[in-house]
Amino acid sequence: MQLFQYRLLFALNLNGWSLYNVLRHAWRITSRETNLKDTPVITQPIAPIAPAANFIRNIIDEDNRIGKWGGRVETRFPPEPNGYLHIGHAKSICLNFGLARDYGGVCHLRFDDTNPEKEEQEYVDAILESVKWLGFDWGRNLHYASDYFDKLYEFAEHLINRGQAYVDSLTAEEIRALRGTLTEAGENSPYRERSIAENLDLFRRMKAGEFADGAHVLRAKIDMSSPNINLRDPVIYRIRRAHHHRTGDKWCIYPMYDYTHCISDALENITHSICTLEFEDHRPLYDWVLDQLQDVVPCHPQQIEFARLNLTYTVTSKRKLMELVAGGFVEGWDDPRMNTLVGVRRRGYTPESIRLFAERIGVSKADSWIDMSVLEDCLRQDLNERAPRRIAVLKPLKLIIDNYPKDSEEECLAPNHPQKPEWGKRAVPLSRIIYIEHDDFMEIPAKGYFRLSPGAEVRLRYAYIVKCVNVVKGASGEIEEIHCTYDPDTKSGTAGAETRKVKGNIHWLSASHAHPAEVRLFDRLFSDPHPDAGGKDYRAFLNPHSKEIISAYLESVLSEVQPEELFQFERHGYFIADRVETKPGKPVFNRAVTLRDSWGKST
Ligand code: ATP
Ligand code: MG
Repeated sequence: MQLFQYRLLFALNLNGWSLYNVLRHAWRITSRETNLKDTPVITQPIAPIAPAANFIRNIIDEDNRIGKWGGRVETRFPPEPNGYLHIGHAKSICLNFGLARDYGGVCHLRFDDTNPEKEEQEYVDAILESVKWLGFDWGRNLHYASDYFDKLYEFAEHLINRGQAYVDSLTAEEIRALRGTLTEAGENSPYRERSIAENLDLFRRMKAGEFADGAHVLRAKIDMSSPNINLRDPVIYRIRRAHHHRTGDKWCIYPMYDYTHCISDALENITHSICTLEFEDHRPLYDWVLDQLQDVVPCHPQQIEFARLNLTYTVTSKRKLMELVAGGFVEGWDDPRMNTLVGVRRRGYTPESIRLFAERIGVSKADSWIDMSVLEDCLRQDLNERAPRRIAVLKPLKLIIDNYPKDSEEECLAPNHPQKPEWGKRAVPLSRIIYIEHDDFMEIPAKGYFRLSPGAEVRLRYAYIVKCVNVVKGASGEIEEIHCTYDPDTKSGTAGAETRKVKGNIHWLSASHAHPAEVRLFDRLFSDPHPDAGGKDYRAFLNPHSKEIISAYLESVLSEVQPEELFQFERHGYFIADRVETKPGKPVFNRAVTLRDSWGKST
């Protein structure tokens, strides 16, 4: 009953879903056995919904109806360049840029670069590339919070002059000790009543570099007894002698995020400042700062919060992703198992699949977990349409067709896409010795196994029916090769092919034509659906089988692929030519996703 309530609550929270969709999918929403078990998980793909209404669109529609912004819609995506973007950021990018696109507005890309110790140009470059890769264009609206350092400083003096900011000389620990708790009010700093003149003098000397790091801070003078801790005289400037990747050593004081963010929004004339739910409690501070500065900033954007993306089997935190890289748990930010945008790109995700995912999961104010299978299914849906079919034998077993003429070969025709005859067919050579998948042979067939076994018949896809007549084993009993005979009257596409039906239909490659290649079979990076929930150490849940490197055989046409070319390897899944390691004549393939979701199920 309780579970049902959660499902219903969650369903009702998905703004913009039709009741039909809600009911259709409510049964698919399940709960997980963790300390987050009350948080719903969406486990199954949801039918694509045209740009769905949601509570943010409702706000914009209402604003437009009453003419609040004169019909203008200006959003922004404000990453901090302290790491690579992850799939959670993609949700925010698709939301902000998507709203701008749909309402004929613009979306700014703004680097929130107020923390020089952690920020680097490398991250700026990677973020620019990832947003572009996702298919979005910021046009002329590329901004940096650091562009506003002069203005931010000027506004800070403005606050001091109005008696709304003061220089505090307590240490960070002392400030923390006086801040109070959720249940107790804070206490005023002994420096709170400094005169405007003294505050101005000290602040200017802070800027001039007269004091050591940490000697003073500038605080907004709001209310130390506010029930909202963010309003208890938040620090808005600190002294930090750090080289900034854009402003160099010009500044030794840097503004804090909360102070910077709202002013940057206002200076850029943003209309709707969309952020994740953890900033809900910061909204009063956002509004307070802009209210005080209304004479000097051009507008007062509306902050709107939405639920961040939580995706099962991953961690969506730059800090944790950075720890995975630094700790050598993965091979870099673009390791295909990482949920960074550079990682999923290398894995074989397409921008279209990620945009589809963002559409499907929608936007709400209710925290939830989205199951990884939803993301994977979006990729399958996209690649099913666009990926040409090819043949690869991943775990080869040699098969000799005893009655096939030696030194002979012939062409078999394989469609490039079974549902798109206009894509044509290609020739796949057949000869006497071929490779089949090891899994397609069982010496003692299990019940319901219709592939090859001694005495059994299968069709070699696009070729002939073969019958297994012998099995050759090595000294230790392992199967080395199998021998078959073929029926020359059964070639696919000929009249005789239809006369005899067999249940098994397996793929193969001619041994003398197949091209050997490295293939990486990736799987989920974590084996726990909520690896970092409830303060768990996510590193304890790394999936030891997340990467398997194999030597496979590919159709010879695949020897000359371009990096990032995508294919379906028949019966296996979707694979991409690795963008870093594929070289002419030497493809390296990454498995993006299997054909079906078999995760956690024994197959
Ligand atoms: P992280 O915790 O991973 O460092 P962050 O929020 O600190 O994330 P920012 O660079 O500040 O990273 O994020 C830029 C924007 O992306 C912010 O508006 C933030 O709200 C949004 N964002 C970050 N993570 C998610 C997520 N999981 N789902 C949706 N939006 C997100
Ligand atoms: Mg942040």
